[in-house]
Amino acid sequence: MPWPSETQRDTEVFGLIDKERERQCTGLQLIASENFTSPDVMEATGSVLTNKYAEGYPGKRYYGGNAVVDDIEAIAIDRVKKLFGADHANVQPHSGASANMAVYLGLIKPGDTVLGLSLDHGGHLTHGSPVNASGILYNFQSFRVGATDERLDFDQIRELAIKHKPKMIVAGTTSYPRRLEPQPFRAIADEVGALMMFDIAHIAGLVAGGAHPNPVPYADVVTFTTHKTLRGPRGGCILTTAAHAAAIDKAVFPGSQGGPLEHAVAAKAVAFHEAMQPSFKDYAQQIVKNASALAEAMSRQGFRLVSGGTDTHMMVVDLQPFDAELTGKESQLILDEAGITLNKNNIPNDPRSPFVTSGVRIGTPSVTTQGMKEPEMALIAEYIATTLRNRANPAAVAEVRAKVAALCAKFPVYTKRA
Ligand SMILES: *Cc1c(COP(=O)(O)O)cnc(C)c1O
Repeated sequence: MPWPSETQRDTEVFGLIDKERERQCTGLQLIASENFTSPDVMEATGSVLTNKYAEGYPGKRYYGGNAVVDDIEAIAIDRVKKLFGADHANVQPHSGASANMAVYLGLIKPGDTVLGLSLDHGGHLTHGSPVNASGILYNFQSFRVGATDERLDFDQIRELAIKHKPKMIVAGTTSYPRRLEPQPFRAIADEVGALMMFDIAHIAGLVAGGAHPNPVPYADVVTFTTHKTLRGPRGGCILTTAAHAAAIDKAVFPGSQGGPLEHAVAAKAVAFHEAMQPSFKDYAQQIVKNASALAEAMSRQGFRLVSGGTDTHMMVVDLQPFDAELTGKESQLILDEAGITLNKNNIPNDPRSPFVTSGVRIGTPSVTTQGMKEPEMALIAEYIATTLRNRANPAAVAEVRAKVAALCAKFPVYTKRA
């Protein structure tokens, strides 16, 4: 074989991968958009399918040798349609952002007006941020959460929809801790004659597991990532009604992508299979129970929860009542020292910039995959509060680091090489 021999192996990169596995397994992973995918999903991701070019769709490829790949992609499509009850699915988007851009490309025109949730109130970059292609190419108008309850305000959304007459309304969030009811979005979209896109990137696993309402019966198009609560490989997916199927497929390929990542498609099929098992329902319920338990424990420690709590997999924590001096940025850094990984996050109407912030976002998908339950959530809140209270005291932070490692050792994720 012309590949490097064992002695020439890239020990530098493989050494770093070992280090990253160690980091993931010995610390608490609380980033709301992350998860621990299964060894089977990783095996498919690392398979020979990475070698294959398969531009086109099952039965309609531009290259030969695609009989096996066709079967794999057809299985992925079939499973995800069943899982969410959709008419049509495209499993090729390389990521959530690619899925969203393909939807815009397929269903609206540059310059068209779109209504979505403001980024600093919990929306996503691809919902019209001025630095993202969505905001550069389309005329996005934003709604914001209510000033007092910090929840979606459908009166405001309706008013903005009537005023701006959008071609499309984008529902879906990236840091909003509450249930997203699809019906009011549908009613507003119908009233103003807009298409309705629902981006369930964060909550796809909760929807699949029955722990969150399914927007598929209400939306024209549903997009999601496969690597967040759904616990699959990194990637995106689009579900549509039959009416938009052809336009969406064309927008993904040849509209915005070339050859699909069939190793990722196979891994998505494996993840869909896993999400169809009865145990996944228990998993989805437990994610939500854990988030509620953690939110309660955090408020007992003196933090304020945006919107007062959570009914999903995540919460946004306002640090100001705990310590007015403490920023999200500093919290993220010091918690990393303690082996607790989360991200700084703006709270609604945050007085600080997005690089500094007055809040952090915390999610429970990863720790729930590990098997942690309510009692561990109380410990996690205690470890977070102790670290932040003692942030000027390295010995106290090191003490938490040791406790975190001991807790993680009780809930091993990848025991052998994965
Ligand atoms: C994560 C996310 C995306 C983007 O997914 P990537 O795979 O990171 O491109 C899109 N929309 C929402 C709501 C998200 O949370």
